[in-house]
Amino acid sequence: MDHLLRGSLRNEMKHCLYCLAPLPEHFQWKNVFLSETTLLCETCRNMFTPLPKNVCPKCSKPLQKGEETQCHDCIRWEKSTHWKGILEHNTSFYVYNDDIKDFVARWKYRGDAALALVFKEKLRRLYLQNYVDYYPVPIPLSKERFTERGFNQSALLASFLATPYTIFEKLQWMRTHRTYRKLKEIAPQPVLHALRRNIDEKKQSKKSRYERLTFTKNPFVSVSSHEVSVKGKKILLIDDIYTTGMTLRKAAYRLKEEEAASVRSITLFR
Ligand SMILES: [Zn+2]
Ligand SMILES: [Zn+2]
Repeated sequence: MDHLLRGSLRNEMKHCLYCLAPLPEHFQWKNVFLSETTLLCETCRNMFTPLPKNVCPKCSKPLQKGEETQCHDCIRWEKSTHWKGILEHNTSFYVYNDDIKDFVARWKYRGDAALALVFKEKLRRLYLQNYVDYYPVPIPLSKERFTERGFNQSALLASFLATPYTIFEKLQWMRTHRTYRKLKEIAPQPVLHALRRNIDEKKQSKKSRYERLTFTKNPFVSVSSHEVSVKGKKILLIDDIYTTGMTLRKAAYRLKEEEAASVRSITLFR
C-alpha cells in the first residue's frame, strides 16, 4: 500500500492534498501527524461536514422527526429474521454530500489513492478508543473493478489500522484495556482479507432494486484458510460509504456464517 502514498507525500507536504493550494507554514511541521488538518487547506477541510450530534446510536444516521432511540432503517433491519443481529453497529464520520461525491470520485475512480491519508488519524483514534481487539476486514472489490482502479480504497483504510502503534497509542491501548502490558507486546490486530467479491457491480446495477436488495444475491464469499479465519473473532468491516447498509450486511452475513463473534463497521461517509 505504501508505494501508492509515498510519492504524493514527498511532493505535496507543503500543499493541500486536494486542491494544491499552499498550506500555512505553521501547519507544515505537523506533517508527521497525517490528518485532515495537516493535509488539507481550510477550504477543502470545510467540505467535510461532521455528522450532527443527534444520530442513530446503531448506524450513525442523523435521526429524523419521530425517530427517538433508533432510526427506522435499523428497526426494519432488526425485524427481519434474515438480517437480525448481523451487523451490530456502524460508525461514520461525515455527511455524504455533493462535494464529497467529487472528492470520492477523484479518490477512487481517478486513482488519487493518497487522499485516503486525510482519514488516517481519525480512523486510528476511533480504533484505539473502541476497537483495539477487533480485526479490520476491508470490503473487497471484484477482480475486474480492482484491475480498473489499481487499488481498493477500503483495504487502504484498513491498512492504516494495522500499522504499528506509536508510544502514545500504546499508552492509550493500556488505558482502554485497563491492563498493564509491556509496550513491545502491544500491537494492532492484522487486517484479515477474509472476503472475496465475485459479482461485478456494473452487471448488478442493471438489475432491479428489488433484485439487488434481495438476500439471495450476495456478491461476497468468505475466503477460508487458517490465516484468515474469522471464527470466534471480533470483526470491524471497513468501507468508505454507508448508503443503505446492504453491502455491509451482506459482507457481515458471510463472516457470521464463518462464526465471527461480532461484526461492526466503520464507514467514512453516511
Ligand atoms: Zn485545498
Ligand atoms: Zn440506525
